[in-house]
Amino acid sequence: MRRPARPHRRPFGPRALAFAGLTAVATGLAAWGAHRWAESAALDAVIVNGEQRLGLYASSIRNAVGRYDYLPALTTRDHDALALLADPTEARRNTVNRRLEDANATAGSAALYLVDRSGLALASSNWRDPAQSFVGQRYNFRPYFRQAMETGSGRYFGIGVTTGLPGYFLSHAAQTERGVIGLAVVKIDLEPVQRDWAAGGERVLVTDENSVVFLASHPAWKYRALHPLPDAVRARLDETRQYDRSALDPLGLREGAAISPGARLVSLPEPGADRPGGARRAYLMQDRVLPEFGWTIRFLSDLEPVRVQADTAALLAALAVLLLAAGAALGQQRRQTLRLQRESHALLERRVAERTAELVAANRVLREAQEELIQAGKLAALGQMSAALAHEINQPLAAIRTFAASTRILAERGEHALVQSNLAMIGDLAERMAVISGHLKDFARKGPARVEAVPVARAMERALALLAPRLRDEGIALDTRIPPDARVRGDAVRLEQVFVNLLRNAADAMADAEERRLSLSAAPVTEDGAAAWEIRIRDRGTGIADADRGRLFDPFFTTKEVGQGLGLGLSLSYGIVRDFGGSLRAENNADGGGACFIIRLPDASAREPSTP
Ligand code: ADP
Repeated sequence: MRRPARPHRRPFGPRALAFAGLTAVATGLAAWGAHRWAESAALDAVIVNGEQRLGLYASSIRNAVGRYDYLPALTTRDHDALALLADPTEARRNTVNRRLEDANATAGSAALYLVDRSGLALASSNWRDPAQSFVGQRYNFRPYFRQAMETGSGRYFGIGVTTGLPGYFLSHAAQTERGVIGLAVVKIDLEPVQRDWAAGGERVLVTDENSVVFLASHPAWKYRALHPLPDAVRARLDETRQYDRSALDPLGLREGAAISPGARLVSLPEPGADRPGGARRAYLMQDRVLPEFGWTIRFLSDLEPVRVQADTAALLAALAVLLLAAGAALGQQRRQTLRLQRESHALLERRVAERTAELVAANRVLREAQEELIQAGKLAALGQMSAALAHEINQPLAAIRTFAASTRILAERGEHALVQSNLAMIGDLAERMAVISGHLKDFARKGPARVEAVPVARAMERALALLAPRLRDEGIALDTRIPPDARVRGDAVRLEQVFVNLLRNAADAMADAEERRLSLSAAPVTEDGAAAWEIRIRDRGTGIADADRGRLFDPFFTTKEVGQGLGLGLSLSYGIVRDFGGSLRAENNADGGGACFIIRLPDASAREPSTP
């Protein structure tokens, strides 16, 4: 029986699509969330680091400057210096030059010099170098000069007009009873500080109050304005020559969002690529104001690692979600496979059950057909035998007619004794016809009436009892070995009938024998794995001629004289035994002659075969 094949599951059913969509959304959300979280965490770390660096750099600048704070004030207390300021002589200048040179060398400052109240440098630590010497230079335009003259002290960053080298200038006024007579100035080199920054690979810059970068870890940033300078500022810077002849081009800083107070996103042209449209780089810029200097230290943190961390986190989160989804999908697939297995298992079981039912039904049909065939065969056999039957019946009929006619004559003659004898003959003939008709009725009967467990020994005893007078008369010895537990499946009465037929045949065959002995036995055997009993009825008679062997069980086959046998006994017995699922066969005895008829029948103690 063919069924329509189960429709194949589409590779992307609505559930699978929904799952894929959900996975995509979850992956996106996870990646986005992880990116944001990692970015903010990394930024926080960057900010903390920046704050620490800014603190460090602020103190390094304060240290670098503070170290020399005392020097101008100390210088203005020097007796010779004051004398020089009050009354400049060449001898005093020489003395003070040397003293300044010594003090400068001891302190490690860039230069130490003395300026009179007009702004003219009277003595300087670098007096020996004509190209560098400040002596004779006028510094009245420098803010540190004015500051000191007005307030007593000044501080100022600028590029040296004489040396062209940047420095931080600290000035201190020389105060006497006559007022300010001049000032001492120390120039501090801040280059070593920024060299440390550059060496650390960090990006630091320091801007003045005009946002001009004057200290930077990267030289390209130096003397650049963070923002374009207003003209007024530019004019003042020119006047003070603070950054000498530097163009102070804008650095090209672009400010982005503020992340936290003192921290904002910015971008700068890559050093060396600061032409318009050049490569830019994003930074987090953190500021720290140094109020005493009016400066701002700015620390730039590269945002690339932040981006990498955020991207990595996003990727990992996406991977994690995808892995989870894959796990879920695998689990689902496994469950589905198991379900399909269960379904196909159930289908298989159902099919097996169906096939079994079909087989059982087919078996029943077959059995019915077989029974029909057997029945049809019997009827056909009846048809075939009708001629023989007519002959069998006609003979006694004709004989009866003849006897009747002669009896009538004998009766008219009053020969009562002969009449009696004829009537007896007629009775015998009628009896014979009754026997034939009885046999035919048996033959035509359909199937076994019932199947029961038949004790073989008991059935044999009854058959022998029926034949007892004849066996006794003919002096036939019995040799019975049938186990009491031999029980076969069949019908007791019909099995007795078979035994009677076989025993009678055996007796017939031994009519002329010298040794008349019947051996009856039963033994368990197995046939195709099923338990059965083999019952043997063995005689010492004529045995079976080879020519008769093939016809022995045919209806109406007989070697006996007319009136002695009908040739139906074996045929009937064969049919009965087969009806019970057994077999009947004959063989000649190897020793001592005679025939042996062997009935094989299923063991009744064996499990009942499942017949309806
Ligand atoms: P019937 O006994 O009426 O002849 P059966 O069908 O019983 O019919 O037997 C058919 C024939 O089988 C017998 O005529 C006989 O030739 C042969 N036969 C049956 N039993 C034996 C036997 N025990 N020994 C030899 N021949 C036998």
